Amino acid sequence: MEKIRLARAGLTVSKLGFGSIPIQRLSEDEEAIAVITRCLDLGVTFLDSANAYTTSEGRIGKAIRGHRQGLVLATKSGAQKADLLQEQLELSLKQFGVDTIDLYQVHNISDLDFLAQVVDPKGLMTVLEEAKRAGKIRHIGFSSHNLDVAKEAVKSERFETIMFPFNFIVPEPAEELFPLCRKHSVDFIAMKPLEGGMLDNVAIALKYLFQFPIAVMVGIEQVHEIDEIMQVLEGPLQMTEEEKREMQRLKDELGTRFCRRCDYCQPCPEEIQISWVMQTPSLMNRLPRKGFVKGRMGARLEKALDCTKCGECEEKCPYHLPIRDIIEEYTNLYKEELRKYQEESARSE
Ligand code: SF4
Ligand code: SF4
Repeated sequence: MEKIRLARAGLTVSKLGFGSIPIQRLSEDEEAIAVITRCLDLGVTFLDSANAYTTSEGRIGKAIRGHRQGLVLATKSGAQKADLLQEQLELSLKQFGVDTIDLYQVHNISDLDFLAQVVDPKGLMTVLEEAKRAGKIRHIGFSSHNLDVAKEAVKSERFETIMFPFNFIVPEPAEELFPLCRKHSVDFIAMKPLEGGMLDNVAIALKYLFQFPIAVMVGIEQVHEIDEIMQVLEGPLQMTEEEKREMQRLKDELGTRFCRRCDYCQPCPEEIQISWVMQTPSLMNRLPRKGFVKGRMGARLEKALDCTKCGECEEKCPYHLPIRDIIEEYTNLYKEELRKYQEESARSE
């Protein structure tokens, strides 16, 4: 497993990191432990979680018991008050079952007000710096989905690492953040390399990212997923001409309407599950027509017909997606599929 050095923090980590959002979905701790153990066996030494990821810290804690040495543990808190931040930090230590967390990150600095709240001389950073002096954490980083805010946070030079979405569909960080990170000695950790499963060509997604000198945090839920990833990483990392063409095709297809499934557009006053609705074409292609229109996705799209076009979601979307137009287009796709399904049903009766 290729290693990379997070220079400012002085940490050496596996270039492939274990992202632990997906293991929350597993119903049993044992299933999650099996996945994490397989990753450790294959040489993954960098594991990331967050207070917000429900069972994930505890599951990592159980999986690494007795194997802590050589691992770099990272987690995050989005607490906006000092006492809550302190409480969540202590909880992370307890759930991981460790005395020290290697990298503690401020979770999702989404606007400049929150950034100011963190870096203010009497702000949240004082809690983290005190925890660092006490040996409870070793290094301080942050995550964000907002490019402009992330740039300011990097420039503040208060953080040692940044975790930010990066993949071939959203290549902006390479152009806009990497030079800034170099200038201010902040190490870059890519998140959402597969866009939560929307980029199903794992080989292309990883080959693209592994050309950069960065750590790549991949959300992994199943043992077969890490095995597939390792197959890619053990082969030639140079993209073939065919893969380059396929990458371009995917970029053109997904383009600027690509939903990152971050759910920052929530809550919707009409309770529309926007990030699900945004996946309509992909699910429509993968599910049988009946399963699509009569299953959970159909129910979500039925609800999306209630969209009032109020625009609240678009104000919150960090990627400025034209959500209202996309919802209209996708609900029309749904109505067309429903009509075809009803015709087919009528014919077969
Ligand atoms: S525009 Fe539609 S989807 Fe967006 S917040 Fe308003 S009702 Fe919800
Ligand atoms: S529409 Fe925007 S805010 Fe909502 S989930 Fe997608 S990318 Fe995130």
